[in-house]
Amino acid sequence: MTHSILAERLKRTVAGEVRENEPMARHTSFRIGGPADLHVTCDTIADLANVVRACEEMDVAWTVVGKGSNLLVSDAGYRGAVVLLGREFRSHSLHDTEIKAGAACSLAYVVRDAFSRGLAGLEFAVGIPGTVGGALAMNAGTRGVWMDSIVDSVTLYVPGAGLQRIRATDVTWGYRVSGLAGEGVIVETLLRLGESDRGRIRAEMEASLERRKRTQPLGSLCAGSVFRNPEGESAGRLIEAAGLKGTRLGGARVSEVHANFIINDGSARAADVMGLIHKIRMAVRDSNGIELQPELRFLGTFDPA
Ligand SMILES: Cc1cc2nc3c(=O)[nH]c(=O)nc-3n(C[C@H](O)[C@H](O)[C@H](O)COP(=O)(O)OP(=O)(O)OC[C@H]3O[C@@H](n4cnc5c(N)ncnc54)[C@H](O)[C@@H]3O)c2cc1C
Repeated sequence: MTHSILAERLKRTVAGEVRENEPMARHTSFRIGGPADLHVTCDTIADLANVVRACEEMDVAWTVVGKGSNLLVSDAGYRGAVVLLGREFRSHSLHDTEIKAGAACSLAYVVRDAFSRGLAGLEFAVGIPGTVGGALAMNAGTRGVWMDSIVDSVTLYVPGAGLQRIRATDVTWGYRVSGLAGEGVIVETLLRLGESDRGRIRAEMEASLERRKRTQPLGSLCAGSVFRNPEGESAGRLIEAAGLKGTRLGGARVSEVHANFIINDGSARAADVMGLIHKIRMAVRDSNGIELQPELRFLGTFDPA
């Protein structure tokens, strides 16, 4: 078993935790997902370089995951190593109106810190779960504002080339997508914020949280919006118009609160969520001729629909 040999090698050379056959349901907001062959926490850049080199030498697939808040992992799990960024990647510092944040920092923590120092620009991100690295990889945001609006630069670990600092203007950013993840592992970013009145920042954040409470199934097991909004349209509206609110498949159902959210009632398998995704795509295509595209990221192998 290649992964057991690799696990033994990593346990000897990596400071962070190395687990075998780790259930990914423990690491996703959906609470769904079979075992990853290996689950490795890298506490330092040296750990990260070590793990990537070992995986590549032994021909083992690897991927980086943040908080798993935008991820559906297959019931069969992942044949490879899931890499998590640990201690050194949680550092965070402030210089005038700039925040330097490690990729493993919680986005919520950075948002709160900016607010407490009267720094504006991150209000849109209040209530978005996950890490800074995940938010950059996904170019997370709301309808109007995305992460790219406040990024000055990003530091990547590029296998074979080491650390590389990229200016935000040299990155390809799009709607819930950035060219970063394809280039390497995001390890740190410099965010450029502005000074503002704390009362104004608080009011904007509270209004945004209030909107989320009203329109999203908060507190449920889910992974945020399942589909991207088509140009000039709302995926939620299209799904609702197709009569799918509340539709169930196994332990998964289309949220009654927001039709673009799929909820795990506690017993859902990835196959249930995938089946529901397929059903929604077919129904919206039949009723509107629009092909919904998933915003959700997938890990592992899924049966063809
Ligand atoms: C209740 C709820 C509400 C949400 N609301 C929003 C919202 O308003 N707006 C929004 O945009 N999203 C929203 N999301 C989705 C999700 O929170 C974001 O996409 C978030 O930024 C993902 O961060 P993460 O750390 O969980 O990433 P993960 O889900 O772990 O990973 C997402 C992708 O990023 C990649 N990745 C993660 N870290 C790195 C890294 N360091 N280097 C390279 N690649 C990396 C992964 O490989 C994966 O492809 C919501 C989710 C939930 C559950």
